Amino acid sequence: MLNKVKRKFIKRFDWFELFNFTANISSMPDCLVSVNPATGKVIRSYKVDSERKVEAVLRQSVQAFEAWRKLALGKRATVLRNIAKEIRKEKHRLVALAATEMGKPLQQGYYEVEKCAATLEFYAREGAGFLKDEVIPTSASKSYVSFQPLGTILAVMPWNFPFWQVFRAMAPAVMAGNVMVLKHASNVSGCALAIAELIVKAGAPEGLLQALLLPSSRVEALINDSRIAAVTLTGSTAAGSSVAEAAGRNLKKAVLELGGSDPYVILADADLDVAVEIAVRGRLVNSGQSCIAAKRLVVVQSVRKEFEQRFVQKMKEAAFGDPFDEKNRIGPMARVDLRDELHQQVLRSIAKGARLLCGGYIPGGKGAFYPPTVLSNVKKGMPAYDEELFGPVGVIIEAKDTADAMRIANDSVYGLGGGIISGNVKKAEILAATELQAGNCFVNDFVHSDPHLPFGGIKQSGYGRELGSYGIREFVNIKTVFIK
Ligand code: NAP
Repeated sequence: MLNKVKRKFIKRFDWFELFNFTANISSMPDCLVSVNPATGKVIRSYKVDSERKVEAVLRQSVQAFEAWRKLALGKRATVLRNIAKEIRKEKHRLVALAATEMGKPLQQGYYEVEKCAATLEFYAREGAGFLKDEVIPTSASKSYVSFQPLGTILAVMPWNFPFWQVFRAMAPAVMAGNVMVLKHASNVSGCALAIAELIVKAGAPEGLLQALLLPSSRVEALINDSRIAAVTLTGSTAAGSSVAEAAGRNLKKAVLELGGSDPYVILADADLDVAVEIAVRGRLVNSGQSCIAAKRLVVVQSVRKEFEQRFVQKMKEAAFGDPFDEKNRIGPMARVDLRDELHQQVLRSIAKGARLLCGGYIPGGKGAFYPPTVLSNVKKGMPAYDEELFGPVGVIIEAKDTADAMRIANDSVYGLGGGIISGNVKKAEILAATELQAGNCFVNDFVHSDPHLPFGGIKQSGYGRELGSYGIREFVNIKTVFIK
């Protein structure tokens, strides 16, 4: 089945390549260019949307919101369910698109699109309960809190989970009665258009979600526009900071899901089979390009050596290459510039004393590939300790004992997720619940999002929450109604 998908899709995109778009992005300032990161070839060039198109989209949003906000919750839920059905119908196309535009291995693509459909169904099922009026007895004859939508939410999204990030933001916001304008990452315009198209095909009201193809330089003007009620951004800390500044100037609500450098604390009593399995899986998810990847492995001295040997062995066994080939766990990185930046972080860490245990080179040939890499003896002052490494690079930091490990884990500007691996679950739970400075703390598992649970960060990993009951209450007017 997967090979059939690949043949069909590759054929279709070879056709685009006949146009011989050369991959010189800077020579096409009015275009967003999708480049296949496995081959380096240009897939397609998309014309940036004009001011006139932006105006039409915003007008359509205003109209759509007026009708959508009045629609009964049950009817909104039906629309969400229909979008979920359409996603499942289109899944082969979506998965192939992500593999071609940003290099996601197929199996991981199927997992991603199914999670989008399941999350839409989750909010279709639970949304009405989350948005139910909350009666609060006071001196009034009746007083309660009502959750009312805000309007058009601007979603500025990253390429790394090109479908999941969008539906994670969209499902709760739309169930709450908002509409959305999507500005996706410039390298996944095909995914952005596919999302908008499938929502229309699912029979959703016109304007429920519209995609604009724009460079990031045009985001501020959108935030300044009075028809945008609020903004949600998933992306780097730098982008978050710019968006927060513009939102702040306009006094608009913002939710920011930003970078991370999740620590995994491996304690002396950890089952090392479990620790290695979690560390490899957590580090290599999405070819290492996940905000909640296992970016710093903080290992207590007494087990560091054994953990390290076993971890390196498993990392070496992880095959990397063509994302359409099922045997590959790791695809290319999403762009050559990001791969090169990661390699520089590795080299600068080695220059400062980190030990390279495997990988750490740029493979010959085309594409943005980077091998599974492990750095040990990592210390403060090295990029591998201080910065986010967004690729398949395992970083081992030795700690003297539990207290030292927790100190190192929290010694970061980020606070997105983190894990504690220990044979003493009670002790690990206390550390996760009360000591680890992050929004998502897991014991004996790798950090992952779940529609039932809130997801988000602290410190430079951002603010606000997505998913769960907390996520649906981000973009609502928490309105007090008081009847004398
Ligand atoms: P990015 O470069 O920050 O881009 C994310 C989005 O923001 C893109 O649509 C981008 O548009 C836009 N953007 C960039 N700079 C901007 C600016 N100054 N003003 C307004 N918009 C701007 O991030 P990325 O490389 O796509 O994604 C990787 C980062 O996202 C990592 O740091 C990762 O940890 C983080 N992330 C966080 C989460 C989370 O849930 N916390 C989830 C996934 C990823 P262009 O593409 O046009 O530049």
